[in-house]
Amino acid sequence: MKEKHANIPVFIPHAGCPHRCVFCDQERISGAVMPKKEELAGIVERALATLGGRRAEIAFFGGSFTAIDRALMTGYLESVYPYVKSGQVDGIRLSTRPDCVSGEVLDILEAYGVTTIELGVQSMSDRVLHLSGRGHTARQSEEAFARIKERRTFRVVGQMMLGLPGSGRRTDAATARRICACGADGARIYPTAVLSGTALEALWKAGKYRPLTLEEGVRRGADCLEIFLENGVEVLRMGLCAEESVGSAAVAGCYHPAYGEMVRSAVYGRMLDAQFAALGVEKNEKITVYAAPGECSAVCGYKKENKSRLINRYGCEVRFAEDDRLGAYMTRPERGNDSALKIT
Ligand code: SF4
Repeated sequence: MKEKHANIPVFIPHAGCPHRCVFCDQERISGAVMPKKEELAGIVERALATLGGRRAEIAFFGGSFTAIDRALMTGYLESVYPYVKSGQVDGIRLSTRPDCVSGEVLDILEAYGVTTIELGVQSMSDRVLHLSGRGHTARQSEEAFARIKERRTFRVVGQMMLGLPGSGRRTDAATARRICACGADGARIYPTAVLSGTALEALWKAGKYRPLTLEEGVRRGADCLEIFLENGVEVLRMGLCAEESVGSAAVAGCYHPAYGEMVRSAVYGRMLDAQFAALGVEKNEKITVYAAPGECSAVCGYKKENKSRLINRYGCEVRFAEDDRLGAYMTRPERGNDSALKIT
């Protein structure tokens, strides 16, 4: 899953956030310093110098950009708008809460060249949202999508979490479906990790929350990835990236640096299982699995798990080859190791 643009990240911690999401590491956030608007030009200039001509977007990360003080938010946008106006960057992206995108806020974002709004939907179940202390409803998320899409100027990305309190496999999949139904242009999938010092940790310790295992997190991630793929919604990321890593703060739950790779491998594994069964593969047969250029390693699986499983199950030989007529998440197993196809 590759981001289309390089991002020039500007972290805006939402210090003093009035909400109490059970999974949020408030202590770390309140200890973080808000950048001064005068510092932003320097951050952007330094990042541009390292991009070597690659296109970029300025990305305000941190969760709730449009919920911070209005003058401060406008000040941040004013500071970086010259880079959008001059074409040095392709736009501005930001993430925020679904209950913080009023028409007035969208007017401001539009005026300053914001191109992508990422909504922290987390779940489309009101029960899960309530148990997670999110302080907004699923309806508010749907209304936010509608309000943003009405403008026809923004890309909208739905961010969702797997394994929040009260959420099961079906509830998580239903969230992915509703994000698609809202017309999302992209999605991010984050499995829930229990961070030290959070309300979620207390719930877990009191036996009131069962954290997601890595295995279950990968299974649910694969369900959701399949739903997004079926609906043509681009998945920008699965699991936190290195800069967002919670590894040291996580005390339980689903977190792994290769989480996204594992989910992709699981989706390819499901495809191959169905295709091998349909093909009626027999013992000692030689099978070549064709996949899109660059995808063979993901098809083969995380630590080659798909290849090993197929070999063990069928007693066959399996090899992988590229076919540039195939796209991502397309595989074609064929009998034999020789082919007239161009193998790149
Ligand atoms: S995750 Fe929730 S509590 Fe944490 S900053 Fe965002 S809105 Fe506030």
